[in-house]
Amino acid sequence: MSFKNFLKEYSDNIHIEAEFIDLTYNALNGLGFSADNTIACVSICRDELCQPLAHMVNEKWGYAFILSSLAGMSWAGKTGLLAALSHSPQIDGRERYVFYAMSHVAVDEEGRFGYCKRPGRQDQSPACGALDVLREHLAKGQIDQEIDIFDIELSLVKMRLLEEITPGDTPDLFELAKISQKAVQTDLERSIKSLIDTSKSDYALISGIQIHRPETNYILPLTFYAVANGVKFDF
Ligand SMILES: [Zn+2]
Repeated sequence: MSFKNFLKEYSDNIHIEAEFIDLTYNALNGLGFSADNTIACVSICRDELCQPLAHMVNEKWGYAFILSSLAGMSWAGKTGLLAALSHSPQIDGRERYVFYAMSHVAVDEEGRFGYCKRPGRQDQSPACGALDVLREHLAKGQIDQEIDIFDIELSLVKMRLLEEITPGDTPDLFELAKISQKAVQTDLERSIKSLIDTSKSDYALISGIQIHRPETNYILPLTFYAVANGVKFDF
């Protein structure tokens, strides 16, 4: 997909990243979430292009618990998530958690998905780089699913996302970003369901795709809801 067509298709639902963080904070404020009573948890890729989001979440919500791994997947597991939950403030007898979970893709000056220029480098750089490695493996038919102890996170990305990809397909980096977003959301929701008691705690899940453009980062939100006092609110 070209960036022009992308903007046409998603124009109603794309936000400048900084404005999106404000928007989510203000919307959740209306349901009683605030920096004083909530712990934020972030799952984004390790790529430095992704880190402005973590920085803005820290500024808005206070320092976040980091669940992040390559490609925005989270391998912190039950132990990591339980640690995050147990660090929440307990205000008025309730705990509150807000999760930001994002995959990512770059779009370069020519509007090509999956590529960007990085400061001080002349070559084109892929983003997400981990998904680009997966794409190369798919193109070559390298679909082994063993854990390489020296490349654990990529092994896990590959194992998990191969469950979502039709054998023989080689999705482009935007499609892979959509697939990894869906996977991290699904996995997080499964953990949330088993670990969060909504009679005692409120939470919000915000998930989508970070889009890196030369001028700034954008967010394409694909999920944004909260559960407060046991009631689900979709935004
Ligand atoms: Zn990445």
